[in-house]
Amino acid sequence: MDAPEEPTGRGLGINVAQRLSDPDVADRFTALEAVGHHSSDLIVVLNHGGFVVYGNPVAQTIFGVTPEEGVGLNALELLHPEERERVAGRILSIYDTPGASVRDAVRVYTPSGELKDLEVVVTNFFDHPSIHGLVVNGQDVTQRNRDQRELTSLAERFRVAFAENMAPMTFTDLEDRIIDVNDAMCEMVGYSREELVGHDSTVFTYAEDVGITEETHLRALAGETPRIRYVKRYRRKDGRVITVEVSRATALDPEGRPQYFIFSERDVTDERKMTAELSKRALHDPLTGLANRSLFEDRLAQAHARARRHGGCGAVLLIDLDDFKGVNDTYGHVIGDELLAAIADRLRRVARSTDTLCRFGGDEFLVLVEEITGAEEAAAIAERILEEMAAPFSLRGTTFVQRASVGVAAFDPTAEDVATLVQSADIALYEAKRQGRGRVVVFTPSMHQEAVSRFTLAQDLSRALERGELWMAYQPIIDLATGAVVGYESLMRWRHPERGAVPPDVFIPLAEQSNLIYDLGAFALGAAAEAMTRLPRSDGYPPYVTVNLSARQFHDRNLPELVRQALAAHDVAPHRLLLEITEGVALEDIAESLTLIEELVALGVGVALDDFGTGFSSLSYLVQLRPRAIKVDQSFVRPAAPSPQSDAILELIILLGRKLGVMMIAEGIETPEQYHRVRGVNCRYGQGYLWSAAVGLDEVEDLVARLDEFPPIDHSRRRRGRVSERHGAGPD
Ligand code: C2E
Ligand code: MG
Ligand code: MG
Repeated sequence: MDAPEEPTGRGLGINVAQRLSDPDVADRFTALEAVGHHSSDLIVVLNHGGFVVYGNPVAQTIFGVTPEEGVGLNALELLHPEERERVAGRILSIYDTPGASVRDAVRVYTPSGELKDLEVVVTNFFDHPSIHGLVVNGQDVTQRNRDQRELTSLAERFRVAFAENMAPMTFTDLEDRIIDVNDAMCEMVGYSREELVGHDSTVFTYAEDVGITEETHLRALAGETPRIRYVKRYRRKDGRVITVEVSRATALDPEGRPQYFIFSERDVTDERKMTAELSKRALHDPLTGLANRSLFEDRLAQAHARARRHGGCGAVLLIDLDDFKGVNDTYGHVIGDELLAAIADRLRRVARSTDTLCRFGGDEFLVLVEEITGAEEAAAIAERILEEMAAPFSLRGTTFVQRASVGVAAFDPTAEDVATLVQSADIALYEAKRQGRGRVVVFTPSMHQEAVSRFTLAQDLSRALERGELWMAYQPIIDLATGAVVGYESLMRWRHPERGAVPPDVFIPLAEQSNLIYDLGAFALGAAAEAMTRLPRSDGYPPYVTVNLSARQFHDRNLPELVRQALAAHDVAPHRLLLEITEGVALEDIAESLTLIEELVALGVGVALDDFGTGFSSLSYLVQLRPRAIKVDQSFVRPAAPSPQSDAILELIILLGRKLGVMMIAEGIETPEQYHRVRGVNCRYGQGYLWSAAVGLDEVEDLVARLDEFPPIDHSRRRRGRVSERHGAGPD
């Protein structure tokens, strides 16, 4: 480049003439200035030396200078250093060619130090009569470039986010044709990108679910934004069906119209399987596969709602296995579990497909039946269940009969609430068991009342011991030959603060239902042992005392130790104690009973079979049990309708006992006639109201004194019989 003309000032001159010492310069630029003034482009004129001789207002704005500051600036110095050489080269290429121009993108520094992007066209006007310079015509593209760069980086970011995303993604056009898919998507459906682009998702959508895509497509087109989520199934290229959660988003154009769709997806097949499995497990009993409580309650609520809407009745059947614990204890839990599963199978056989079967607890099952005519039909179904259960079960070479009881509670369309239905069935079940097990009982409202009072009574009973409301009464046992009091049966009494005397027939079964029976039992044993130190015997010998044991006490492993301690505490001879158990209890588990009785006998304590004759005992077992006494049940002593037959039975029982060498005690003798009848068949001992009901310890002394001369016995025989009695079958 030639040496630059000397500028007269700095700035992009409007009034260039003043600053270039060229007299006709003003004229030279008049036309260009006129154009430049109104142009929206940058227009700058450079002289031979590359110095600015003119800049229009746009140029002034871009460079941030006043006209004075602009003129005289060296154009090359304004360029970004990295670009100087290149731009200079390009300008030089047109330097000697008038009319030639180059186009370039340049970066320039403004005097204030700002970097700007310009797109310029430089034209050689050196030979132009009025310009004599290089005209630079250009635009500031700084912002545009910045936008462009941002856009590019945005696009790149988006490209990476799409291509590299672990989530399967798809773009579709407005017809839902696939524009692009990412690798994860290809991997998920097993198709390559080429196999998918240009097609729609029916390629891999499970046939039945194609409608879902179409429906969401329409919704998206209709403007449902920002996204639509749904689940559908795909058939992979390899044929495997998977379940996918899809999120369909719509990209909008600036006018807010759908432009294309972006799908982001997730294979939820395994997750769903697991959830289903978990919820199945959460709702089903793993052992039997039957519904569990919460599922049952759910179904019951639904059944109730259906009954209210469409009419019809339903019922809840609560089935309880009789003595299932015995199976577990005897054969172990493995067989116990197998038995429960087998019972569930039988229930399935009886149930209709609409019934809900539930394992309610250890050995309790619930059946929900719907669309029945009422409680009677429910009871019939329950009977069918018991019939089905009646056939013996064969498990691992063992055959058992498992009996059950059923409580039924029905509901009709007017039922307000079914939340208490299971409870009602439970109350009916209690009644079924009370009536002797193996039967069906339908709930009635009066049972509820009974249950409530039973419950409050049980509450009261739990406090009765500590409040001293329980005490022991003693009923004398008489030697029927001599009239002597030889022993006592101890009987528990409860004086309830409001209800007065509550009979043991009522409170003992209550106590049996909870662990309370153990406290009561210990109390009875302790009291009896203590009483033995005070109870008189008419012939001067120490009397024996019998203590009644309930079933659960008898099965208690601690019993022998408890007995031993009670006796030791009061220093009484063990042979004076007789424990009364009913035949039923003793025969429930004969092996266990024999072991226990052996332990008791080893202690010196005797066993008396209570209520004998009512339990259909097997005679061979009777011998094995080695009872020291047998208490003949009141029903033989006071038969409802006395007859030669009933006399014969009584006689045979007594004979049996005598042959076995067992002490026979007749219970419930109330009248002289009954006394004579019992005496007539050679029964040696008896007890009953004829002599006295059970009385408190304090009254016993007087009672025995009064009984000493009591008719109808010939008391004179007593003295004669004394010696032989001591060596008789009974305890002394
Ligand atoms: P159980 O062992 O058969 O007792 C005989 C029952 O007959 C007693 O009734 C007694 O008071 C009553 N009795 C005695 N003589 C006569 C009579 O001449 N006529 C009539 N009608 N009844 C007579 P109680 O005291 O009401 O006891 C009922 C049942 O409660 C007992 O039957 C026994 O099974 C149970 N029990 C009583 N005390 C206890 C106890 O301390 N522990 C346990 N586990 N059960 C007890
Ligand atoms: Mg008894
Ligand atoms: Mg009895």
